[in-house]
Amino acid sequence: MKDNIHILLIEDDNKISNFMSLALRAKDYKVSIAESGKKGILEFCTGNPDIIVLDLGLPDMDGNEIIEEIRKISEIPILVVSAREMESDKILALDSGANDYVTKPFAMGEFLARIRVMERFVGVETKNSADSTPVSIYEFGELTVDTDRQRIFLRGEEIHLTPLEYKLLVFLVENCGKVVTYSQINKQVWGYEHMGDVKTIRVCLANLRRKIEKDPSNPEYIFTKIGVGYRFADME
Ligand code: CA
Repeated sequence: MKDNIHILLIEDDNKISNFMSLALRAKDYKVSIAESGKKGILEFCTGNPDIIVLDLGLPDMDGNEIIEEIRKISEIPILVVSAREMESDKILALDSGANDYVTKPFAMGEFLARIRVMERFVGVETKNSADSTPVSIYEFGELTVDTDRQRIFLRGEEIHLTPLEYKLLVFLVENCGKVVTYSQINKQVWGYEHMGDVKTIRVCLANLRRKIEKDPSNPEYIFTKIGVGYRFADME
């Protein structure tokens, strides 16, 4: 496990997010803040957080919608922090896949204790791709994609991808030589159009290229088909 647990706060109230991040940073957590649902999802896709602290009442999306969409692709621990105090609100959030629920206003001591509970769930990512995927190791030049152990190696060195970068790479590799469109990526990698808008895919792909390409502006592995999608080189 990493030394510093990375917590993503999705909260539109600056006062509350600053208050939480101050307390968390004092305890050596790494914190990033997103003040809208879309920014939160982008940060989740690209920033590789370990824990999400989620407000339900966001300006652009409902928090429950975010939980449901994240749960389609990740088991990242989610702690809901909300002013909604009805039992039915709590049940809805927990049923959507939140791990725990704290009602605002809350005492900082309790909040930090709940974060420590969330830490127990860090890294217990379930292997949702383990069901039907055949055992496979793909080799392309200096790149090895081991979908059995879910590990990626470049020139023999393991490289670390976020869960979405990994899913995107595997999808491209499994379709190597063929163009995959943005909408296919949406469906297969994100499983939801809102999360996988073209901009989000581009950000995720740019990060992936930085990790696997020698020169990301002159790629050898992943080629852009302008306006359509991407093609992974057919090198086998
Ligand atoms: Ca709010």
